Amino acid sequence: MLKIFIINALSDNYIYLLRNEQKNLTSVIDPGEAEPVIKFLNDENWHLDEIINTHHHNDHIGGNDKLLSVYKSKLIAPSYEKNRISNVDIFVSDNENVNIAGVSTNVIHTPGHTLGHVCFYMPKEKCLFSGDTLFYLGCGRVFEGTIGQMWLSLVKLRSLPDETTVYCGHEYTLSNMKFANYIESNNPLLNKVSLDIKNKREKGLPTIPFNLGIEKKINPFLRADDDDFIQSVGLRTNNASESFGKIRLKKDNF
Ligand code: ZN
Ligand code: FE
Repeated sequence: MLKIFIINALSDNYIYLLRNEQKNLTSVIDPGEAEPVIKFLNDENWHLDEIINTHHHNDHIGGNDKLLSVYKSKLIAPSYEKNRISNVDIFVSDNENVNIAGVSTNVIHTPGHTLGHVCFYMPKEKCLFSGDTLFYLGCGRVFEGTIGQMWLSLVKLRSLPDETTVYCGHEYTLSNMKFANYIESNNPLLNKVSLDIKNKREKGLPTIPFNLGIEKKINPFLRADDDDFIQSVGLRTNNASESFGKIRLKKDNF
């Protein structure tokens, strides 16, 4: 059984530390900085076997070099970002299978936020590391790809089983929640989830991880092809991708 620890980093990043006790393997996903990871590993007396990156932004790879020099870990990163991330040992591409902390993991290419962004899905553990593609009640800003690409990337993630537990790259939940409620005030499930989110943030607790099945019903960015939803929020266009673009733009200016 894989244990997943959440490490706070920078202003609102989450670094995930994965520990496989049986195989004595430890991995870290998206170390935006090295120090909090080193401290955690020292406290537990664990070695760092692998570093995994979802995309090239510095708040996700900033700790790579320091960690590599201390632990000589293996660095696993998307092949599509090979010119943007250095010292990579294992490049991964869409649909490939890779072992992370000894656990079989599917690589899902999700261009949009960056062109080479990938997410990591562990079918047996039923968990997804979504980087800056899918956030709790939100999605990443579209920096390098097109709106159409980002929409298709989210549709890919949405096709994963409802019981999937999602670990995303940032604690953006409160602001995403405000936007979700602003455009859709009459969604009882969203209202219920919002209370839980407020509660957690008031106590300074992470709102992560979250359940994908519920997310499919409350995240506006996952429902651009839901006619009733899109009609009720007045964002109907010619197609889902365009409607998604409208929601994204509304959030960018929120
Ligand atoms: Zn990013
Ligand atoms: Fe980020």
